[in-house]
Amino acid sequence: MRVVLVGPPGAGKGTQAQFIASNLSIPKISTGDIFRANVSGGTELGKLAKEYMDRGDLVPDEVTIAMVRDRLSEDDARDGFLLDGFPRNVPQAEILKKMLAEFGVALDVVLELVVDEDEVVRRLAGRRTCSQCGRIWHVDFDDKKDDVCDACGGGLYQRDDDKEETIRRRLEVYQEQTAPLISFYADEKILVGVDAAGPVEEVTRRAMEALAPYVD
Ligand code: ADP
Ligand code: ADP
Repeated sequence: MRVVLVGPPGAGKGTQAQFIASNLSIPKISTGDIFRANVSGGTELGKLAKEYMDRGDLVPDEVTIAMVRDRLSEDDARDGFLLDGFPRNVPQAEILKKMLAEFGVALDVVLELVVDEDEVVRRLAGRRTCSQCGRIWHVDFDDKKDDVCDACGGGLYQRDDDKEETIRRRLEVYQEQTAPLISFYADEKILVGVDAAGPVEEVTRRAMEALAPYVD
């Protein structure tokens, strides 16, 4: 199955992606995670991306698309994948469609995580990520005052772009550039919305139910 997850920053895409991809036995491909790995690895791509990420802006399409093309060409993505954080604007969506057509395939479904802006800000402000296994936590909702990952014992960190000012810019960028994807995919008749309020497990249950008709 070929799935895209969309929704504002903080909607829970990364959190749900880890469970959905594991339930469906497909690789989770998160452009944000790939950029962050490049930033911490000090690569040229990381140096370039960091500038944009720190401002809350999108990394230029050219760079992002080349990176996604490489990742989708890997063997494990041949029979399916879950994209988290890509596409992020209509030009990226159009190129993705062409790229998949070249591979002789197409997206099955685009899952939109629907959640209001107040909740998104609450989620982003308390987000913590494990520096070892990448698992996502929340200081309040998961009671993570100790900054230790319950899954692997690694240390948790707060992302640089989860500061109040950058959060505001990222939400603006979402409205201007990413939200138009919703009508793009509605027109393509592959958009499915899921209520992303409530506990993580409940949202995963709703997401799996919404995806059930597309499971091959
Ligand atoms: P969030 O989890 O808050 O939605 P991500 O981890 O997906 O954020 O992305 C973090 C940052 O990485 C973005 O603000 C942007 O700078 C960059 N980025 C991620 N995916 C893309 C993309 N598809 N196109 C351009 N920039 C991207
Ligand atoms: P995104 O990838 O869309 O930016 P994340 O999955 O990183 O979002 O989630 C943002 C924050 O919200 C994290 O701290 C995560 O633990 C928390 N979170 C995710 N889903 C829920 C939920 N259903 N209820 C409460 N907190 C959540």
